[in-house]
Amino acid sequence: MNRKVDMGGLFMEQREEVNIKEILRASRMGMWRVEMEEGKPPRFYADEVMDELLGIDREITPEERFVFHRSRIHPEDMRLFQEYSDKLTEARTEIVYRYIHPVSGAMFVRCGGERDTSVTEYVAVTGIHQDISETVRIEKEKEAERRLAELNDSLRKEKRRQDIYYKELLDIENCGVLAYTMPGHKVIHMNAEALRMYGIESVEAAQRELGPLLRQVYYPDSEVLNQLKKLRNEDDMVDYECIIGKGKANECHALAKTKVVHIPTGERAVLTTFVDVSDMVMLKNALHCAEEGSRAKSSFLFAMSHDLRTPMNAIIGYAELMEAHWGEKEVTTNYLQKLKGASQFLLALIGNVLEIARIESGKETLNEAPWNLMKLEETLDILLDGEISRKQLTVNRNVNIRHANVYCDALKIREIIMNLLSNAVKYTSEGGKIVLDIDEKPSARDGFMTLQIRVSDNGIGISKEYVPYIFDAFTRERSSSESGIIGTGLGLRIVKSFVDLMNGDISVKSEPGKGTCFTVEISCRKIPEEELQQQMEDQPENVSLAGRRLLLAEDNGLNAEIAMTILQDADAEVELAADGKIAVDKLQDVPVGYYDAILMDIQMPNMNGYEATKAIRKLTDERAKIPIIAMTANAFEEDRQAALAAGMDDYVAKPVEISELFRTIMKHLK
Ligand code: ATP
Ligand code: MG
Repeated sequence: MNRKVDMGGLFMEQREEVNIKEILRASRMGMWRVEMEEGKPPRFYADEVMDELLGIDREITPEERFVFHRSRIHPEDMRLFQEYSDKLTEARTEIVYRYIHPVSGAMFVRCGGERDTSVTEYVAVTGIHQDISETVRIEKEKEAERRLAELNDSLRKEKRRQDIYYKELLDIENCGVLAYTMPGHKVIHMNAEALRMYGIESVEAAQRELGPLLRQVYYPDSEVLNQLKKLRNEDDMVDYECIIGKGKANECHALAKTKVVHIPTGERAVLTTFVDVSDMVMLKNALHCAEEGSRAKSSFLFAMSHDLRTPMNAIIGYAELMEAHWGEKEVTTNYLQKLKGASQFLLALIGNVLEIARIESGKETLNEAPWNLMKLEETLDILLDGEISRKQLTVNRNVNIRHANVYCDALKIREIIMNLLSNAVKYTSEGGKIVLDIDEKPSARDGFMTLQIRVSDNGIGISKEYVPYIFDAFTRERSSSESGIIGTGLGLRIVKSFVDLMNGDISVKSEPGKGTCFTVEISCRKIPEEELQQQMEDQPENVSLAGRRLLLAEDNGLNAEIAMTILQDADAEVELAADGKIAVDKLQDVPVGYYDAILMDIQMPNMNGYEATKAIRKLTDERAKIPIIAMTANAFEEDRQAALAAGMDDYVAKPVEISELFRTIMKHLK
C-alpha cells in the first residue's frame, strides 16, 4: 500500500509509521477493520491507538475484540450503532456514539468507515475511531455558556423592562416621589414632580442640599414631625399634610405618605410620595373667605338694621307723640328735645357706618403730611367741653413731646384721641376724673419717634369677659336702654382700624368700677432740621389780608366764628352767608370785583357748596371767575376731586390750619 494521508497540507508516506502513530495518538484517533465471513464469527482488528482509546486488551483475539467492543456500547446508542454497521457495508458513513470505557467510563466516540472493495471473498470494512469526548465536552460547555448568555441577556432585557416600568410608575404625573437612604441620606430617586414641588432643578442639586430641602417642609400638625423622626429606627408608615416652601413663591400644599423600605443593597430607605393639593387648598380658603365674608355681611346688616331702627323708631314715636299733644307747649318741647337727640344720634351712626364702610372696603389710606403735634391739644376742647362741664368732670392733660414736628396723618390721630376721650367722658360718672397723656417715647427706628397717647378714667370700667370684643363693630358691653348711655359700638372699631393702618399698637387695661386706660403707640417720622427750616421759609410771614374782602359760606355757627376770627385777625373784611343759596345771591347783589374770593363749605342746607359753585360758574360776567376755595370736614381725596370737578379752585380741610388757609388764599388772590 502506498497511500497518502493528508494531514493539514503535510504529506507523509505511510511508511513513516512511527510518526503517523504519534500523530494519531495525539489526535486520539485509532484505526480498525472488521471482517465478516459467512459461517464464522466477525473479526475486529484494531491498531494500538484504537485499543488504547477503547481500553481493549491488545492480546485478545479479533473475535473476542468484536464481542468486547459491542458489549461496551451505551445501551441507548446500540440501535443507532447497529443501523450504522448495516449501512457501512453499502456506503461510506459516520456515527458518534457513546462507549463505556472499562476504566474511565462513558466517552464520546466518532466512528467513520467504508467497505474495502478490494476484498471479495468476505465483507471487510475499515475506518477510524476517534475519542471526541473532549470536543463534545467543550461543545457542551460552549452550549451551556451560550444558553447562560442567552439567559442573562433575557434577564437583562427583563430587568430593563422592569426598570422602565417602575420608572414610569414612579414618574407618574401629579405624584412626587422622593427616596433616600437612611442613614446615609443618599438620594435614590426623585422624580420630576418632586423636583418641581421642592422648587429645585436637578437630582444632583437636591442631593447637595437635601438637609435644607427637607427642613423647608412645614407640618401643620406638629405631631407629624415626631412620627417622622421615629422612622429613623422603626419600619413604619406616616400619612400627613405638609407645606413645602411655606411663605415662598413656590409654596406648595401636599398630601404625603412616608414609609421605610428595604432596597436590594440591603440598606434602609425613606420613600415619600406627595400629591400637590395647592389648588384644592386655595379653593377651600377662597370658599372659607367667601363664607366668612357673607357671614360678616349678614351680621353687619343685621346689626345695622337694628341700630338704625332704634333711633328711627324714637324719631317717629316722638313725632307722633308731638302730634297727639300738639298745643301743649311744655310736653312737646320735651319731645322735640328727645327727637333732636335721636336725630343727632342717627346722624352720628350714619357717619360712623360710612367710616367703617370705607375702612372695610380698603379705601381708607394714610395721608401723611408735616404736622406739629403741639396742635393736637388745640382741637380737642371744642367737641367735648359741653359734656365735660355738664358732668363736672376733671380733665388733666400732660403733653411731653420733644420732637413735635413729624410726618403723620393728623386727622386720624385726632379722631383716635376724640373717640377715646368721648368714651372716657361717656363711661365716667359725674365728678369723675379723666387724664390725657401725650408723650414722646424713643423709637427703635432711626429718624422716628414714638407717639404715646394714653386716655385714662376712673369710670365704670370694662369686664374681663368683654375686653376681647371691645374692638368689634357694633358691640357694646351694655345697650343704650340698659345703661342710658347712647353709642353705636363703632368708635373703638374705627380707632383700631386707624391704629392698624399706621402700623401702631393699642392696648387696654380696665377694672370694673375702678376705671379704664387705653394706650396707643404710633411711630412717626421726625421732620429733619433742614426740611423744617425750608418749610419755615416757605411760610408767608405775618400774612396780611388788609383791603381784601372775602365771602364765607358756612352754615355752622361755631365753624363760621372760628374762620371769621382767623381771617379778621389778618385784617380781612369777611361777610357771612349761611348757605350756598345766600352766597350766590350775595355775589349777584354786589358789583363785579366786590369780593376777592369765596370760602365755601360743602355741606350746607338749601344749596350745598358744589351746587353753589356750579351756579356761580354759570354767571355771565366776570363774577363767574371769582376764586372759590372749598372748606370742608370731608377730608378724603375723592372729596377734593369732587370740589375741583364742581369748579372750585382749591381745597382746605377742616379743622382749618391757619397757615395752610392763608397760603391757599394768597395763591388765588390777584
Ligand atoms: P360709639 O360708636 O358711639 O363710640 P360706643 O362708645 O358704645 O359707641 P365704642 O367706642 O366702640 O362704642 O366702645 C365699645 C364699648 O366699649 C362701649 O359700649 C363700652 O361698653 C366699652 N367702653 C369703651 N370705652 C370705655 C371706657 N372708657 N370705660 C368703660 N367702658 C368703655
Ligand atoms: Mg365710643
